[in-house]
Amino acid sequence: MKPVFKRVVLKLSGEALAGNKQVGIDMDTMDTMAKEIKKIVDLGVEVSIVVGGGNFWRGRDAKLNDRAASDYVGMLGTVMNAISLQDALESNGVVTRVQTAIEMRAVAEPYIRRRAIRHLEKKRVVIFAAGSGNPFFSTDTTAALRAAEIDADVILLAKKGTDGIYTSDPNKNPDSKKYDQLSYREILNQNLKIMDTTATSLCMDNDIPLIVFGIDDPKNIFDVVVGKDIGTIVRKGD
Ligand code: UDP
Repeated sequence: MKPVFKRVVLKLSGEALAGNKQVGIDMDTMDTMAKEIKKIVDLGVEVSIVVGGGNFWRGRDAKLNDRAASDYVGMLGTVMNAISLQDALESNGVVTRVQTAIEMRAVAEPYIRRRAIRHLEKKRVVIFAAGSGNPFFSTDTTAALRAAEIDADVILLAKKGTDGIYTSDPNKNPDSKKYDQLSYREILNQNLKIMDTTATSLCMDNDIPLIVFGIDDPKNIFDVVVGKDIGTIVRKGD
């Protein structure tokens, strides 16, 4: 099978890495993800991954008094996920580099755009950690930012507990319908809760396609990369 993308940003939320545990890391889940990621690397796709941190900490929900400080804790959480995912990938024979937006050279490379691109060209998987390095942002926004910076063909937004974008919350409204495709403008106008508005507008302004798909079945990563019609595709629109 042939991939339909050359270079992708895969966004894995912290939740997706925690498996059924919801909090912390589940190495069996990491291993499963790693095996699926290996399959797309073997197809020749240049793979970068933005990891979330919600399995450890979410800045806005945490109890620190200072929101910025709370967000820094959140960003450090993403580094734990990145190192663990790196371990799982390397155990499966995938060559990786972790790049952090907050420098911690003893642990990983600092984020350097041109270096990240070079790694991708050499078919190394690049894991972007520590979000954007800025508080008040999310890892979804980081995925949009990195996708624009490295000129990715698409953002693959892997979601737990859903398989795409719906007209309303399908858990609350049984009449809710799944969109096959949609524009960023429609997401903003209808206030659909897919990503935060910063991430959505960054994708819209930079014309980055997004595919939202379910990660409950990790094989979907492969399916989406070979162009199977799963999930919801979001484009710039008019
Ligand atoms: N975060 C941040 N700036 C960023 C990315 C992340 O401050 O650029 C912090 C923020 O507190 C966030 C936490 O890191 O709540 C974890 O990221 P996120 O909530 O996006 O993770 P996910 O929901 O994808 O697991």
